[in-house]
Amino acid sequence: MAPPPPLTPQALLGLDREHVWHPYGPMPGTATPYLVESASGVRLRLAEPVCGQRELVDGMSSWWAAVHGYNHPVLNEAVREQLGRMSHVMFGGLTHEPAVRLATRLVEITPEPLRHVFLADSGSVAVEVAMKMCLQYWRSVGRPAKQRLLTWRGGYHGDTFHPMSVCDPDGGMHRLWGGVLPRQTFVGEPPAGFDAEVDPAYAAELAAVIEQQADELAAVIVEPVVQGAGGMRFHSPGYLRLLRELCDQHGVLLIFDEIATGFGRTGALFAAEHAGVAPDVLCLGKALTGGYLSMAATLCTAEVADGISRGELPVLAHGPTFMGNPLASAVANASIDLLLGQDWQLDIRRIEAGLRDGLAGAADLPGVADVRVLGAIGVVQLDHPVDMGAATEAAARAGVWLRPFRDLIYTMPPYVTGDDDLARITAAVTAAAAAG
Ligand code: PLP
Repeated sequence: MAPPPPLTPQALLGLDREHVWHPYGPMPGTATPYLVESASGVRLRLAEPVCGQRELVDGMSSWWAAVHGYNHPVLNEAVREQLGRMSHVMFGGLTHEPAVRLATRLVEITPEPLRHVFLADSGSVAVEVAMKMCLQYWRSVGRPAKQRLLTWRGGYHGDTFHPMSVCDPDGGMHRLWGGVLPRQTFVGEPPAGFDAEVDPAYAAELAAVIEQQADELAAVIVEPVVQGAGGMRFHSPGYLRLLRELCDQHGVLLIFDEIATGFGRTGALFAAEHAGVAPDVLCLGKALTGGYLSMAATLCTAEVADGISRGELPVLAHGPTFMGNPLASAVANASIDLLLGQDWQLDIRRIEAGLRDGLAGAADLPGVADVRVLGAIGVVQLDHPVDMGAATEAAARAGVWLRPFRDLIYTMPPYVTGDDDLARITAAVTAAAAAG
């Protein structure tokens, strides 16, 4: 059969507008997306110039996943090699080397008591599984009333319904879903600042709520150290130590959602390491496959797994069709090898210094409320909602792809971003902040 005739960029964009939903978008779309033809290293090549640029330096790592950049020869080879064997087989009743290796590796590199791995197909599903594990654990050990989750405001854990129920109640659009979402317990946002002292009043609020509600609480779920899509806020690792103590004291499980922070982004391989504590359940995703394919993982301790396996239904009742996908597992293994086979901390420190330097000037711009940097994350917060169109175009004119949201213009560049490209990114963030 003859291949279909090529479509012009205009035709593709017309069909896109007519048929394709984009994230958080209306239908038909109102903003024209940039049409990407290919991507290599840290550059996205566009099908036609936008704001005079045919190539954009990627400041987003494709929503924080493509830590090694695009079209990486080692990752490409891992996919090709696996493709020659099998792209997929079901995981029920079958297993395979890429998934077994990946699960074993994840247990080796994550904090100590985490021992068992559920390979899910997206971050939201990994969070669903984490919540299901905790509810089922308490049901299995004879405490079925422990069904509620506690979290702090300002969080983000995904867009499916149970994860939505623990997203920030305002930013997460809970009002739209009143009566539909399970009701969870919220405490205030953790006080800002990675280096800030633990605030005793906030600590006392956390302690009081956990103590009061311990009989109903299955778990506490938080993003450790960095709240990502909920507002790009940083907090002290001291709050994670406190949560660990309180959860132990009151018989509540602790879930760390490291889907955004895992694999080095904050300067530690996992953000929990800043605090020196381990959760009972850990969610990973995004950079797990180096941004090549959708895969996530939920890890738990032997205690959680044993509890579930002693229950009335002694299985974890979850099994997505593409669970443990061999291609995704193979590229995840290659991505982890690539990351750990080099001095990744050096790159994060270099990027952190470049971001601090390059974004310092943005603090003096009118309309800028805060500039903050941690690891390979640089954030400029405005005192008003970003003008998305103006900010995105200002970045594109400077040769950089950024995707601001709410009042935030930020970058999470690939770890392979060189110093010149990093300077270009920080100039573009500053230009976007001035325009937006
Ligand atoms: N949890 C956190 C902390 C996230 O940042 C995200 C995505 O941004 C998710 C969960 C959801 O992951 P996914 O988009 O793969 O479903």
